[in-house]
Amino acid sequence: MNYDVGNLVEPIFRPPSEWDSLLIGVTNGCTHRCTFCSMYRTKKFSVRKDIEEIKNDIRKAGEMYGNKIRKIFFEDGNAFVVKPEVLIELTQYCYQKHPNLKKVSSYAHAQDILKKSDDDLKRIADAGFTMVYVGIESGDDQVLKACNKGVTQDELALAAQKCHRAGIAWSGIFLLGLTGNNPEKSQRHAMESAKLINRMAPTMPRKWYISPLTLEVTPGSEIWAQNEANNFVPCSGTQILEELYTLIEHTADDLQTCIFNTNHASNYLSLKGELAKDKKKFLKIVTDGINDPKTRRPEYMRGL
Ligand code: SF4
Repeated sequence: MNYDVGNLVEPIFRPPSEWDSLLIGVTNGCTHRCTFCSMYRTKKFSVRKDIEEIKNDIRKAGEMYGNKIRKIFFEDGNAFVVKPEVLIELTQYCYQKHPNLKKVSSYAHAQDILKKSDDDLKRIADAGFTMVYVGIESGDDQVLKACNKGVTQDELALAAQKCHRAGIAWSGIFLLGLTGNNPEKSQRHAMESAKLINRMAPTMPRKWYISPLTLEVTPGSEIWAQNEANNFVPCSGTQILEELYTLIEHTADDLQTCIFNTNHASNYLSLKGELAKDKKKFLKIVTDGINDPKTRRPEYMRGL
């Protein structure tokens, strides 16, 4: 159950692991328009300018929920876009008003991480901002360009390293099926995504997270329109799992502390573990999923 103070603008989205967080509106909508995403299409992007108003929400939540709040998630699509001083002030205020708080996080676009200096990120982390959820989608520059992500593999690798250095936990989300039904492109998407995962690995002890999701063609997105015009054919379930197999197979065997999770409702298989340690087990489960459709989550149970 999420907590809020009743003034968020629908529709609201948050990562599955933030299901029990207090949701605080810092921005409205998203800064970007990725071709596969319809999440914030009905909202014009804006930043809440009045910091005191946001602090008032944080304080009010303390009055409403007492000491229950352990996690706070800053809404909406890319709350990390705001200036470092704003993130620091709001994060510190969250801890003042919620004594049992353990985590403050938001979605972040990699470019907004790169725009912040190492010192900015360290100060944000020191204030208690603990995690960014970054929509990576692919390590393949051609796929990133085609879906209008506004970032390259090099930039994503750098953004991850900056977060690791600052002490902000990195949670990266990939999107299986993004190339559509084109085996050659699909395999390159998987190989380049594995390459990017290897480049994002921290050089110091840090827990980090990788979560592949599976593309859902949703009304309102460009990919939906392409699909309607027969210019985009989605991957089959088998192709999605072949992509997942290649992605896992090509990750380095010595990746440290990378928590890998495919338990999102869009996926055909639910894997959870440490990528390097559980690699063989994951590959066996995915192979079984490729060979035997009965082991997969049924189509009617996929999606949100
Ligand atoms: S995928 Fe993320 S960055 Fe792209 S439009 Fe959707 S919410 Fe915004």
